[in-house]
Amino acid sequence: MIKKTNIIIGVLALQGAVEPHIKMLKQLGVDATAVRSPEEIDQIDGLIIPGGESTTVGKLMARYGIDKKIIIRAKEGMPIMGTCTGMILLAKEIVESAQLRLGLIDCAILRNAFGRQVDSFEADLSIDQIGEPAYRAVFIRAPYALKTGDNVNVLARHNGRAVLIRQGNLLGCAFHPELTDDTRVHEYFLQLVKDWVKEGSAC
Ligand code: GLN
Repeated sequence: MIKKTNIIIGVLALQGAVEPHIKMLKQLGVDATAVRSPEEIDQIDGLIIPGGESTTVGKLMARYGIDKKIIIRAKEGMPIMGTCTGMILLAKEIVESAQLRLGLIDCAILRNAFGRQVDSFEADLSIDQIGEPAYRAVFIRAPYALKTGDNVNVLARHNGRAVLIRQGNLLGCAFHPELTDDTRVHEYFLQLVKDWVKEGSAC
């Protein structure tokens, strides 16, 4: 078997904030590419589902058959980080909505959860996994996880609300880590990808 040396991260590019993720990943020295088809999802080592509008992204995923492919790769253990809309789409349950979701993270997500009057805001989060100093997070019409299953770890809260969650290879992030200069959330995700690739190449 040929040993792969380069890690490739795909950023789902159906709609939403794609470029800032690609830029940040490149800044961290990894190959990053926009992905739009099931074939492309097969060729990556990790996936970011960016912010946007979750009903639109859900419909487009189903139209192109990407949802099924993402579910298969997630179950193989490929790391996936969903930011904002991406977090919503990864959930098993979306409160009071029948919209398409991937159903991968055992949680119930509330959309636009910080109140319509507060379209966007910034807040300092304390995240043990990335250490000091506090992480300045940008929230835009953000969701949070109202309920999480026993297999889900809450890595960060804002005013008691779960805004960064992890279930094994899956990360759900209510804020926009691509819109700051702080690369630590992407670095944390990249470490999951590196560990997964290393495990794979050892067998
Ligand atoms: N409110 C949007 C939704 O429900 C998410 C907003 C975002 O991704 N910044 O999809």
